[in-house]
Amino acid sequence: YEAISIKQKRSETINRKKTSGIWIYAEHKNGIMHPVVYELLGKGRELADKSNHKLTAVLIDGESSHWAKELIAYGADRVILCSHALLESQQDEYHFDAMTTILEEEIPTIFLFGATSFGRSLAPRIAARLQTGLTADCTRLEIDDVCGYLYQTRPAFGGNLMATIMCPDQRPQMATMRPGIMNAKEPDYYREGTVKRVNYKGEIKPRIEIIKEIIGEKKKSIGDASVIVSAGRGIGSQKNMKLVRRLADILEGQVGVSRPLVDIGWSEYSHQIGQTGAIVRPQLMIACGISGAIQHLAGIADAKTIIAINTDPEAPIFSVANYKIIGDCVEVLEMLIRSDREK
Ligand code: FAD
Repeated sequence: YEAISIKQKRSETINRKKTSGIWIYAEHKNGIMHPVVYELLGKGRELADKSNHKLTAVLIDGESSHWAKELIAYGADRVILCSHALLESQQDEYHFDAMTTILEEEIPTIFLFGATSFGRSLAPRIAARLQTGLTADCTRLEIDDVCGYLYQTRPAFGGNLMATIMCPDQRPQMATMRPGIMNAKEPDYYREGTVKRVNYKGEIKPRIEIIKEIIGEKKKSIGDASVIVSAGRGIGSQKNMKLVRRLADILEGQVGVSRPLVDIGWSEYSHQIGQTGAIVRPQLMIACGISGAIQHLAGIADAKTIIAINTDPEAPIFSVANYKIIGDCVEVLEMLIRSDREK
């Protein structure tokens, strides 16, 4: 009980602090900044400009941190830098403790994290410490520039609806943002910003000891593919999915699908493209038997060249396609595969 009341007192003190703009958490590992950080800076900058706030990047790092200039170039007005040898590793108990030290001086109005394994572990602890809410795995963020409310949208009920959540009373408003959805801004290395250093003593005894880190083979993510051959219900049968995979292999690309194919078990969810699946940005996309429902188009808006194959000349997919093939996608796939064999 004593421990709980000490914690409560600490969060009450923290919650009385004046709030100071929009913060993003700059996650990095083994000398590499996570790509979601640049996306958070891009989104954070947009929200900050709209609501007249400053954008701060929180950088918790080992003793020889060199990232501050980079974070400012990508949009931060200020970097809060907390360095200590113990913070070199991604031991989240140390990072949480360092974060608590930072929050004892000031708290943000909005605090954003990447929805990565590390962000998903750290952000809820901070939300609990600050006794505020957290919307996990957001796919969209908007700000009301009058009252400053953050509208945090995320898929709910297994992706069957999009829920927009807001946190009217407590501060900060906190969210984790799904990687690969937002756009980073071009860096400007002439941008100027400030760096605030926070002293960290590293006095806690962590309950977890990292003995060894085993890094699994990184699966290719469809979000990174430069060529995608995607299939919708018009592919007709699970057997025909072989043709889609074959053409994707020939083009050294990956397979994507519309949601019904995941629902009926013809494909894994990791291949689903759209509002409740992956957002993709390929150079070339061949869409086979996909109608082009709005929820699917939400995932392919940044595809460079789209070739759509559909029997229905009125199919909405044709409105976003660069090349249209009106016909049976199975026949077209067989033809394309045959023409590769004949080469
Ligand atoms: P259909 O709409 O059934 O279209 C099949 C198409 O194939 C038709 O255009 C038809 O003309 C064509 N066709 C038929 N036979 C052939 C043939 N032999 N050759 C060529 N063409 C042929 N969907 C997603 O894809 N991704 C999402 O993330 C997603 N999220 C959703 C979230 C919510 C909240 C909701 C409500 C829905 C979501 N959906 C999503 C579902 C979406 O609304 C559509 O139902 C779905 O995209 C349709 O998939 P489809 O195009 O494969 O199937």
